Amino acid sequence: MLSLRNYDIKYIKGVGPQRAQLLAAELGIRSAYDLLHHFPASYVDRSTTYSIRSLVDANLDELPSVQVRGRFVSLNVVGEGAKMRLVGLFSDGTATLECVWFKGVNTMRRRLSTGQEYVLFAKPSRFNSTLQMSHPEVDIPGSTFAQEGLRGVYPLTERLRSNNFGSRAFYASIASFLAGRTTPFADMLPRSVVESLGLMSYDAAIRAVHLPPDPRTLQMARLRLKFEELFYIQVDILRRSRKRKESIAGYYMPRVGRWFNDFYSQCLPFELTGAQKRVIKEIRADIIGQRQMNRLVQGDVGSGKTLVALMTMLLAVDNGFQACLMAPTEILATQHYETISGMCAKIGLNVRLLTGSTKASQRRQIAESLADGSLHILVGTHAVIEDKVQFSRLGFVVIDEQHRFGVAQRARLWAKSEIPPHVLVMTATPIPRTLAMTVYGDLDVSVIDELPPGRKPVSTVLRYDEQRDRVDKAIESQLKAGRQVYIVYPLIEENEKLDLKSATEGFERISARFPSYKAAFVHGRMKPSEKDDQMTRFASGEASILVSTTVIEVGVNVPNATTMIIENAERFGLSQLHQLRGRVGRGADQSYCVLMTKHKIAAETRKRLEIMTSTNDGFVIAEADMQMRGPGDIEGTMQSGLPFELKIANMARDGQTIQLARGAAEKLLDDDPDLTSPQNANFARALALMTDRSTDWSRIS
Ligand code: ADP
Ligand code: MG
Repeated sequence: MLSLRNYDIKYIKGVGPQRAQLLAAELGIRSAYDLLHHFPASYVDRSTTYSIRSLVDANLDELPSVQVRGRFVSLNVVGEGAKMRLVGLFSDGTATLECVWFKGVNTMRRRLSTGQEYVLFAKPSRFNSTLQMSHPEVDIPGSTFAQEGLRGVYPLTERLRSNNFGSRAFYASIASFLAGRTTPFADMLPRSVVESLGLMSYDAAIRAVHLPPDPRTLQMARLRLKFEELFYIQVDILRRSRKRKESIAGYYMPRVGRWFNDFYSQCLPFELTGAQKRVIKEIRADIIGQRQMNRLVQGDVGSGKTLVALMTMLLAVDNGFQACLMAPTEILATQHYETISGMCAKIGLNVRLLTGSTKASQRRQIAESLADGSLHILVGTHAVIEDKVQFSRLGFVVIDEQHRFGVAQRARLWAKSEIPPHVLVMTATPIPRTLAMTVYGDLDVSVIDELPPGRKPVSTVLRYDEQRDRVDKAIESQLKAGRQVYIVYPLIEENEKLDLKSATEGFERISARFPSYKAAFVHGRMKPSEKDDQMTRFASGEASILVSTTVIEVGVNVPNATTMIIENAERFGLSQLHQLRGRVGRGADQSYCVLMTKHKIAAETRKRLEIMTSTNDGFVIAEADMQMRGPGDIEGTMQSGLPFELKIANMARDGQTIQLARGAAEKLLDDDPDLTSPQNANFARALALMTDRSTDWSRIS
């Protein structure tokens, strides 16, 4: 591994000093190790040759790049200047297709001749019903590249390609380097792990991933390499988390006292769900252990997370501590405050709200009651983590919808008490457990996987713009029944102006269409106070319709709202749609969600939206979303927390391998917690290299 990391790519045949510089600048590839770990993004199967005839009627959307074999019937340079192109008519005897080159026209014209047999390789398309290949790869049959079998397609940049270093040249350099290395590359994984899981050796895997002999071997090779990346990460995370658990003491909260019991017997208007009970027990087990709790509670929208948060905060109060609940926005904080103070009115719990707009006089009161210990629960926005907010004994912190709270903010909270308070993070953005384990590193994860009884699932339909009349009628009947309606427009930053325009037009249209009902309007360009104003009009029931760009706050609760219309639904991610849909279905009435799109949408998009119409389960949706789009935000956040960039493993799609790596990491650390055993010496060295955040090894050549 070290020797590969120290091997400068400029000495590799086919690379040389100039390309080496380019590779470093474009892709950060400096050493042979980097080169070998720049994996194909996909593979093409060149063992099949298609007849052109079979492509004529084929559904081209579903075809990858294909290979055809035949001769050019004609080759003509047409047009001039920027419009100059080379057009070749290619025939294999079954039919013809047209090849077009817009770049390198003269070079290509010189290279090609009619009569010579060629193998062409490209993704076919149809242009005015003519079958086309644009810029196909052209080979003479029998040459190295027209060989049969699997070939990697490497993710490269435009600049590399225009410097004659495309996928094929890249592949050739790797192939020549591998051919020159006859001694096997050392395996850094512990032998016990490789053997017990039956993994391919590193040497075999790295060769097969670049030069796959057959699909099965390729699959084994990819598994081995993915596993390796994930294993480093899991061992790293697990080791830190075990260390942290050993070393960070937590407040001891053994009592279940008057606040919890009184709330339970006097204020709880319904039975807790089984899942809520279970999660409360998990939290209680944490706070009576001697360690600081760091727990994530995932629960679908409406699963009753707030109640779990409240009841566990009461446990902290019972033990003489103060608790605080942070929400990402003012509206949410206010709602939490109202819910909690409303529910606890009977038992005299002292709850206060602190946000950016809290008046100075109230701030003073809050500060006093925080200091003298009479304030039990402080609810607020990030205002609660300002330095001047001083608790007398902060023991328990709840963070709602944490994806908007950074690690730095959490750290500030910690600084508010002598030893760090217990931390409970709640999120309605469900992510599969395997991913959560990695994204949240050392957080323990609880799941509320049950909705309170009696909830009617939201009925979801897909409608086209042409059916707007029908949708309007449905809206009307809900309004007549006294219900409220959300209408949401997408807001995408690059396109903010246009989006605002369509939302504004939508607002005007709907106001004109339903003149006897009041409509509120919220958009991203408004001042927070204006936004709050409009939201309040809707929440209080004064306005029946809320038209908004996607600023409807996650977690907002208006039980009388039964209909959610989402315009341009195709522009939203599934998880976002699910969040939006979660705004309805909060009361006893049947609720509806209408996904509006243009009539013409891609098959892929339709499939995505149909997931929404077929299930209400946030976890199913999150998994599907991640498989289709990758984990997006989550991955971004997470990548920044990882010790190195993943080159082959994928957090969204490789859940099983993550689990495998996790299990193996646990076993390894159980047997050899500090990795001091001689059998693990190589691995320990590699791990130190891979996870050393202080050195950028890719820069050492
Ligand atoms: P979440 O924050 O998980 O989206 P909330 O805590 O806002 O969900 O709860 C949604 C609604 O369900 C609230 O009106 C709440 O009072 C109600 N609720 C919570 N737990 C239960 C339960 N066990 N039985 C019935 N209703 C419940
Ligand atoms: Mg909530």
